[in-house]
Amino acid sequence: MFYYKKLTFTQKILLSMLLGALLGIILNNIDIYHSLINQYLSNGIFEVVGKLFVNSLKMLVVPLVFCSITVGITSLGNIALMGRIGFKAILIYLLTTAVAISLALLCAIIISPGQGIEINNITQFSAKEAPSLASVLISIVPSNPILAMAEGEMLQIILFAIILGIAITITGTKAEAFRKGICSLNDIMMSMVSIIMKFAPIGVFFLIAKTFATQGIDMIIPLLSYFLTVALVLLLHVFITYTAFLKFVGNVSPITFLKKMRTAIVFAFSTASSNATIPVTLSTVEKRLGVDKSVASFTVPLGATINMDGTAIMQGVATVFIATVYMIDLTVVDYLTVILTATLASIGTAGVPGVGLIMLTMVLTQVGLPVEGVALIIGIDRLLDMMRTAVNIIGDSMVSIVTSKSENSFNLSVFNDTKAGL
Ligand code: ASP
Repeated sequence: MFYYKKLTFTQKILLSMLLGALLGIILNNIDIYHSLINQYLSNGIFEVVGKLFVNSLKMLVVPLVFCSITVGITSLGNIALMGRIGFKAILIYLLTTAVAISLALLCAIIISPGQGIEINNITQFSAKEAPSLASVLISIVPSNPILAMAEGEMLQIILFAIILGIAITITGTKAEAFRKGICSLNDIMMSMVSIIMKFAPIGVFFLIAKTFATQGIDMIIPLLSYFLTVALVLLLHVFITYTAFLKFVGNVSPITFLKKMRTAIVFAFSTASSNATIPVTLSTVEKRLGVDKSVASFTVPLGATINMDGTAIMQGVATVFIATVYMIDLTVVDYLTVILTATLASIGTAGVPGVGLIMLTMVLTQVGLPVEGVALIIGIDRLLDMMRTAVNIIGDSMVSIVTSKSENSFNLSVFNDTKAGL
């Protein structure tokens, strides 16, 4: 206990994660008591405490995103500036996603995961309908902003908050009282984030224990080649693509960046949801990494909604894997189609657990691969989801830095200060 108190916050979270994984793996291997363990632990206390924690994070997402974007836009005070920041961020989001999926295809073609796997015992998979591109586009504009907030429709909330921010700026002094009110609400939301974060070690412990107790790690073995290929490309993307962007475009140290991202990474990993992680990512990017509020408040929620490099990587590897198992040859045009559709699919993927897999059906359909192939990988998707969500939010944070740097609104001394934001 004495030693525990001396640990830093990140160390406490990492410890919780390790202990949770250890407990989960042990429980998963105790067969005799399986039903009891399932009833009282995995689906009992682990589930309840873990869900309570995720819900308390989600509770903050809608008000936080709404306030922070509105405040961010009003603090820019200039609509052209907002357009420029948005344009840059979206451009880098798309560029890195296209790089991610190309890297995934390249590695998957070289490694060829799926070789030697039989398809006799594939269970049926009934795909949920992936939304069409047209419906994704149409639904960006909310017909009812209150409903959008009630249902947590992120793109709609983002759009409404942007327009509100612009309107406040145009209204000027008459809207000053409202602007101050929303700024103060934003500060209050950030204080709520700090309160919830106090419970993070407990929440993370139960979330991870539940995942490992129900999933185990044994199921990875038959699909090891697929699992490892996705994991490898995720790592390559972080250590090559993001590192290059940070070093050569952002001119900052990728090592410091990754060190400071640790807490947010653990949150993304435990919740498998970029959305639920928004409060943590936002506070990390602003307070620990030194990105100006006006940029972070816009790039982080937007990135959590449309920028999913990790998801695109899974989709690329999964496509090649499924094609290999079904012995279907993909042509160059097919690969180009995969790059395009996976980039679009990742925009349409909501930042919640498991959606990447549903959007994969869209990619498979585009290149004529059997959608039932998803059943092959569904069993190990949760663990990969945790990993790819971590990459998704690392990408959002990297783009926030690069965009802020290019706008000269980046605070390097905060970035270099190891204690900043603690
Ligand atoms: N869980 C991912 C996220 O929230 C999305 C996905 O790939 O399913 O970022």
